[in-house]
Amino acid sequence: MLRNPVYRGALSWGRRKGQGGSKPQDADRAVTIEDVFPALVSAETWEQAQAVRKSRTHLRTRAVTAEHPLTGILVCDLCGSLISGHTQNRYDKRTKEHRWTVRHYRCRKRVHNGGCSLPFLRADRIEAMVLERIAAFADPKLLARRLAQMAADQPDTSEEMKSVRARLRKARADMKRVDQDYRAGELGPRAYSRQIESLAAEEESLAAQLRDLEKRSTPPFEPRVHAAQYRRLVQLWPRMNMGERREAIRALVRQVRVLPGPEVQIVFRWEP
Ligand SMILES: [Zn+2]
Repeated sequence: MLRNPVYRGALSWGRRKGQGGSKPQDADRAVTIEDVFPALVSAETWEQAQAVRKSRTHLRTRAVTAEHPLTGILVCDLCGSLISGHTQNRYDKRTKEHRWTVRHYRCRKRVHNGGCSLPFLRADRIEAMVLERIAAFADPKLLARRLAQMAADQPDTSEEMKSVRARLRKARADMKRVDQDYRAGELGPRAYSRQIESLAAEEESLAAQLRDLEKRSTPPFEPRVHAAQYRRLVQLWPRMNMGERREAIRALVRQVRVLPGPEVQIVFRWEP
């Protein structure tokens, strides 16, 4: 998971996977935009994880099959199972020559025990549908509406923020007062350090509460930035190989629910 720069808050694609890790394949195509999402890990932790991952690269024996860019994010809406990719090759019986290849996505429950009725899905068709949906969200106005709706569903935290801010101001004022009393000789060193320590702990905890509240009350992103990312993904898609597609789509999309029809429903990473 830590390979994806999205975990340090950046959005990136167009890097080629190979020995020794990800390298830009072509300066025009490698895109990394920092600070698009709230970082899930610090940049430093991420760099460390890359170093560890690279040192272990030689231990990986099985190549990752990248023929199905949507594997892992496609979910069957009928039964909740993951939907995985499957490739079928047909050969000429006589000459043993390769005739054709067809890719499908298949509900795992259906494959496993027939316990689901979701038909097998032609991969090209589903991938085109997903791209079409993403392209529709490349409109900042549509995104802004969806964000506003999300914000309306969030509980209002403004009163709580006001109260935490007031308590924070008071803790800081108290620290200043204790400091002045100590300088004026009205407070002994022991009483001083006891009071300062307790106030500092309170201040720290209130500041953390405030940061958390602020994070929850601000929109997770700027709609224009994301709209541009969606447009770029759709533009570059035909030129990307399967591995790049897989990486790019995961940077933006958390899940794609598949309904019979077939019909697809995109859940973006920023959605709750
Ligand atoms: Zn199913």
